[in-house]
Amino acid sequence: MSPSLTLNRPLIWFALAALPACVWLPAPGLRLVAVGVVIMGLVDAWRHLRRDRQNAELMQQALMLSEEGVQITDADNRIQAVNPAFTRITGFTEEEVRGLNAANLVAARHDTAFFQRFWQSLASKGRWEGEIWNRRKQGDEYPEWLRVKAVTDARGRITHYVGTFTDISVHKAREQDLRRIGFEDPLTGLPNRRRLHDLMTSRLRHLRAGESLDMAIIDIDGFKSVNDSLGVEQGDRLLARFGQRLARHMAGGVVGRLGGDEFLVIRTTTFDDHDKWVAGLRQHMGEPFEVGSRTLRLGLSIGSCRAPEDGRDSGVLFQRLESALYTAKRHGRNVSQRFRPALDVQDSPHMALVYALRDALATGDQLELHYQTQHRIHDGAAVGMEALLRWRHPEHGMVSPGEFIPLAERHGLMGSLGNWVIDEALAQMARWRELGLPPLPVWINISAIQMFQGELESALSSGLARHGIPAAQLGLELTESVLLDERAGDIVPRLEALRGRGHRIAIDDFGTGYSSLSYLKHLPLDKIKLDRAFIRSLPEDAADAAIVGAVLAMARGLDLEVVAEGVETEAQLDFLKGQGCTLVQGFLFARPVPAEALIEQWQNGPVTPAGTAALGVEPST
Ligand code: C2E
Ligand code: MG
Ligand code: MG
Repeated sequence: MSPSLTLNRPLIWFALAALPACVWLPAPGLRLVAVGVVIMGLVDAWRHLRRDRQNAELMQQALMLSEEGVQITDADNRIQAVNPAFTRITGFTEEEVRGLNAANLVAARHDTAFFQRFWQSLASKGRWEGEIWNRRKQGDEYPEWLRVKAVTDARGRITHYVGTFTDISVHKAREQDLRRIGFEDPLTGLPNRRRLHDLMTSRLRHLRAGESLDMAIIDIDGFKSVNDSLGVEQGDRLLARFGQRLARHMAGGVVGRLGGDEFLVIRTTTFDDHDKWVAGLRQHMGEPFEVGSRTLRLGLSIGSCRAPEDGRDSGVLFQRLESALYTAKRHGRNVSQRFRPALDVQDSPHMALVYALRDALATGDQLELHYQTQHRIHDGAAVGMEALLRWRHPEHGMVSPGEFIPLAERHGLMGSLGNWVIDEALAQMARWRELGLPPLPVWINISAIQMFQGELESALSSGLARHGIPAAQLGLELTESVLLDERAGDIVPRLEALRGRGHRIAIDDFGTGYSSLSYLKHLPLDKIKLDRAFIRSLPEDAADAAIVGAVLAMARGLDLEVVAEGVETEAQLDFLKGQGCTLVQGFLFARPVPAEALIEQWQNGPVTPAGTAALGVEPST
């Protein structure tokens, strides 16, 4: 505040007017009065001068203390004064910037329209507030939140501009981080699922006449085994490389990661060469990757579709892409599948259940294994048990495996579901071992898909190692159809390898497929499970009785054990005993029960078939 302001006060004018009067007034009394007025005026002026100086000092202090940067410029925007916060934020001292046009500090990020609005606002409203990018002394640019006020004189002319600002670069960075976290896949830096939905919607909206969108989901076959064998770190590196290569290949298109080992690509095109495009993708991405010291050639499952032919809504298109991918996966490895309406019609009634199952798998808490014991026929001793998968759906209650396993197979969930079963069964065996219970072998069911996908072996070995269970304790039940399906590749060496590791192998539901016992002769097997269908009508049904008798006789010749499934009555048991069957499984002995119930049963005494005497638990077959 300047001393000239003091001259605005009326008293000083009185005093100045009274000054000559002190000399020329004739009457000494009047001169004395004039001197008094002068003195009062001077005292008043001095007092105000002092107060003004005090105020100025306080203002100075306040400016010194302010966390906000302050700059005062004149009407031509030349800097007159700045505070220490200004220096702290910008790096410029007052000496360095005094007289400089403040516009020189602004980063070259704003266009002329921005400055036009800035000056217009100051001229019409006397203030401006907003985000502006400035330059620091070191040269880097930063965003600040700036408030500028125009200071006018008594006649309303702008004399100065006072600007206060805060550095918002930290806040901005956080905001950007948040945006990035929301829309970007951190591993690859590519758009994530959420962002991909937006990008697809936007591409669909901007589609012009004659243009189409080709889109594909690419899934790396057996990626889990890469993780298992090379470690998660190398697995992550591979995913990042995969993403980079895909992005280069798709220049101008959309590339993102949906999660896990699934990537989505979209291109806008005027060509009608969808299949060729997919083949090109496959060929390019099928080239080997260097990971660590290894060279990996990846198998890819690709589900694709094309808009607008296959839909105009991103939600529908996503669903169709997934449905195509699942069909591709169902056909085994390295398959491409374009969406066909038939896939959708066939799947739609089940889609809700599929999504629910996917959720159940993600959380794991709706899934359970129940255990049904298998018994030696001559004394009823439990010699093993079968793990049977249960899904406790939050609304539908228990869903039968007969219903959801085929769905899981059709929609690409069987691999994960099967791995869950392997791990859960082994974890349960480890818990029983801790409780000091006898080590009964557990048999798990293996779906055909698990054989095709080829992750089975790695899931088994890592599970066994993790839980410290010997392979001999975990038997594998394969249905007959698996053995006959050429997609499983040459099954004999695989079964031999599994047995070589110590697993025992059983053929489940024997008799329902078309395999003959003479075919089984060539397979490395330990056990046959005679399907319940043949047992149900025993002993009355003569045809079934004959089949069961023949199978038992031939199996003995081949040195194979036979388990009769679904034994519910004493009559069935007697018949089987008479035919030389040695092992049985069925409600007559035990129903499948949760693991805890089994522990209770064991603690309350050995498992016994209904109506027979107490029988012991026998740890080996
Ligand atoms: P499965 O492997 O043949 O299993 C035996 C089925 O027969 C089980 O049905 C069991 O509860 C039932 N069962 C056992 N004893 C009797 C009996 O005395 N009378 C009658 N009526 N039924 C009996 P569940 O649990 O419904 O399983 C059905 C099928 O689902 C299984 O047939 C198996 O093929 C499949 N499954 C179950 N769990 C799994 C799994 O973890 N993985 C795979 N891939 N398939 C599984
Ligand atoms: Mg079974
Ligand atoms: Mg069976």
